[in-house]
Amino acid sequence: MQFNSLGLSQALLKAISKKGYTTPSPIQQKAIPPILQGKDVLASAQTGTGKTAGFTLPLLHILSENPKEKYRPIRALILTPTRELAAQVYANVREYSEFLNLKSAVIFGGVNQNPQVATMRQGIDVLVATPGRLLDLINQNHISLKRVEILVLDEADRMLDMGFLRDIERIIKIMPEKRQNLMFSATFSPDIKKLAHGILNHPVQVEATPENTTVDAITQKVYRVAKGLKTNLIIKLISDGNWKQVLVFTRTKHGANKLCEKMGKAGIKAAAIHGNKSQGARTKALGGFKNGSVSVLVATDIAARGLDIPLLPHVINFELPNIAEDYVHRIGRTGRAGASGEALSLVSADETTYLRDIEKLVGIKIPVEIVEGFEPDPNASTEPEKRQQRGGRDRSRNNERSASNNTQKNDSSRRPKRNNERRRNDRRN
Ligand code: AMP
Repeated sequence: MQFNSLGLSQALLKAISKKGYTTPSPIQQKAIPPILQGKDVLASAQTGTGKTAGFTLPLLHILSENPKEKYRPIRALILTPTRELAAQVYANVREYSEFLNLKSAVIFGGVNQNPQVATMRQGIDVLVATPGRLLDLINQNHISLKRVEILVLDEADRMLDMGFLRDIERIIKIMPEKRQNLMFSATFSPDIKKLAHGILNHPVQVEATPENTTVDAITQKVYRVAKGLKTNLIIKLISDGNWKQVLVFTRTKHGANKLCEKMGKAGIKAAAIHGNKSQGARTKALGGFKNGSVSVLVATDIAARGLDIPLLPHVINFELPNIAEDYVHRIGRTGRAGASGEALSLVSADETTYLRDIEKLVGIKIPVEIVEGFEPDPNASTEPEKRQQRGGRDRSRNNERSASNNTQKNDSSRRPKRNNERRRNDRRN
């Protein structure tokens, strides 16, 4: 199938060809036609499948076909869970709308609101936003959603994980009831299905890859290793392989900083990206990683969510995530849009249960390798470490959730802990 058979305008086809895309990805083939028909869509698509273009292209087509003459009310709202994802989606919206008479803007927390307010005042058609800053600006009467025609919830599963349910409900209440709704999610928990049921109207369901399975192009491997030898092993793997673009996941912000420091001492150019870093530091780290001046980006799950790094060849789990679905999100950073990639996991004895959960979820037994000199400790306990540290990880994750948006001040009042969030935290303890 070619892009020109999807019914998109010439201006959009020109932008697509400028991006260098030749054929629509499976999610684009499935999602674009029903969206163009004005239908609500519930899409199961993990990151790296081309989902952003899957909703952005038809959305821009619809808006440009019915231009508003005099002024520009916000006609499409795209909600994303994190600042980074908001920035990336906005960059895509800008690129795809280059040859259209449509204006767009992005708003998120952690930066001064004044430039964002000034942009909004000039009138925009498409707004990309994180929920916290959006509600702040609505409360200050800087933004009205009364004319929204299309709502997109991107990475809806992650929005729920981050406790944005209440915010989403508030935002939806102030939009016109008659609108088109598009919801994209990598996983489909009962909570996601409930949210979809409440928002979407007879949605067309589309799926890019089977639920919770990993992309075929990704080679997965587990290195069994003693906990205390992980740092030296990762340094050896990166140095021996002469890898120039590696995304490394740690479970905590502190762990990310520590690992970065040790890599630096070993002569590897590394930068950390997590919720305690300022927006400026995060942007700089990501920029360095993209332009090659930084070889290793060490990230926590929430900070890395949605990062668009094309053709990333290596993802390494320095620690396995304690939520199996996060593994799928993490390794979705490699093997993007048809390119091959390698996802490696350093697994110590206390992560045995997590590995089992992950293998159950992805439905394969991940091949195991042991590197000489970095053998696992045969006497180490297979009991997950966090059981011995009740509360520690939980606090770390929650802090990051609030730091990853600008809602630190009033988040706790806005978001009473939901049952499923409690359940998740229990699993972490
Ligand atoms: P996404 O899943 O939206 O984060 O997109 C993943 C990556 O695939 C991005 O770098 C896009 O620029 C790229 N991409 C999206 N659609 C296509 C396509 N049809 N052909 C090739 N690359 C694409």
